[in-house]
Amino acid sequence: MSEYKTVRGMRDFLPEEAKVMRFIESQARSIAKLYDFKEIITPVVESYELLSAKAGEEVKSRMFVFKDLGGRDVALRPEFTASVARLVASTLRTEPKPFRLFSIGSIYRYDEPQKGRYREFWQSNYELMGSNRPEADAEIILLTNALMKAAGLKNLVFKIGHVGVLREIFDQEKLKEKVQNVAMQLMDKKQYNDALKIIEKAEASAKCLTAIRELIQLKGENIFAVIEKMQACVSGFKQAVEAVKNLSEILKLVTESKKEMRIIVDAGFARGLEYYTGMIFEVSVPELDIALGGGGRYDRLIELFGGEPTPAVGVAHGLDRIMLAMQMQKAKPKISEEKTGIIIPIKEELKTEALKIAEGLRQSGIAVEVEVMGRKMAKALEDADRRKIDFAIIVGEKELKEGAVAFRDLKQRSQSTVLIPKLPETIKRKPAKQK
Ligand code: AMP
Repeated sequence: MSEYKTVRGMRDFLPEEAKVMRFIESQARSIAKLYDFKEIITPVVESYELLSAKAGEEVKSRMFVFKDLGGRDVALRPEFTASVARLVASTLRTEPKPFRLFSIGSIYRYDEPQKGRYREFWQSNYELMGSNRPEADAEIILLTNALMKAAGLKNLVFKIGHVGVLREIFDQEKLKEKVQNVAMQLMDKKQYNDALKIIEKAEASAKCLTAIRELIQLKGENIFAVIEKMQACVSGFKQAVEAVKNLSEILKLVTESKKEMRIIVDAGFARGLEYYTGMIFEVSVPELDIALGGGGRYDRLIELFGGEPTPAVGVAHGLDRIMLAMQMQKAKPKISEEKTGIIIPIKEELKTEALKIAEGLRQSGIAVEVEVMGRKMAKALEDADRRKIDFAIIVGEKELKEGAVAFRDLKQRSQSTVLIPKLPETIKRKPAKQK
């Protein structure tokens, strides 16, 4: 037994798991197509400066950072948004907007490993850039719903809030951005009392403290009732009133176009990433108390990276967690699989013939393997059964003289002699297996 293990927080996907992962990935790609998001592929390694610019202390402290051999400070990406924003601020700067950009790949965060929390994990990421309108926010929420449904998940719960509401109150109070960020991070961790203390220490007014205290309490599924209460809470803060209106419009668009979605509005909801400016959301299922995906609006990030002012809204879905949720809900991925076969030469001297037939079939798009363990026919067939292989082609001298082989259907348990050129049509006639 080898002593080598995966590095803490990293994991292997064995064939069955890899299949499910690729299924989820294929659904993420179909959703990108359906919502017309174009794929971009960005590097796993980016400059530390870029990745740390606006990620927030939490994500920053968990980055895999190192110096490359050229002495550059680099890091493994802890999210996609910074890379997409870099592109939009540079190479894509003069392209007409909006951009609908999609990425899929591995992400690295030095999180404490536990169920659904890994140090290497997979995300599908969608960014809609160039629009500040609520319909753009609605598109991002709706596509998230569509992806979770396509993965076969049910009982989805969307938690939606708006950092603009809190930020506008803080801005009106002239609270420094650093103080705001610390308060938001504490709120993200549900440490509301600590957040309130920070705000109080920064000499926020009693009016501000009351509003924040009330907002933190406000959440519920009767979403427009919650919105109304939010309006009352923030009535003394002009810009915050606008932010609540914006949230209300987004919710109207979402609920009117997709009635069956379950949404909780949470006025005290904050997210770890610092760059959010507007609506934020997360999606989860009751079986798992961690988010399957999350996102929101970030209107100032592109500017911060030196680009044109570009409002934007986006979402990242955790593919590992979607997989976990599928397991918990016993959602079966719809994977239609090609039939597979094995070619068994009954004699050592027929090996070349077996390989030749295999090559011909593969050229016709048929998946086959050649018996490579030198086993006798009975043993090879037994093993093929165990591995749920669909058919076996037995290459024997007698049939070969007639240009034929023995074709054994391992599912139907039938056998016939088939001319080699007729093999593809014989195999393709049988229905593909469903898994
Ligand atoms: P975030 O970029 O923090 O908004 O995360 C987006 C999504 O990525 C989350 O909703 C999770 O589904 C997933 N995610 C974040 N951190 C981890 C992790 N350590 N392991 C697995 N999935 C993660």
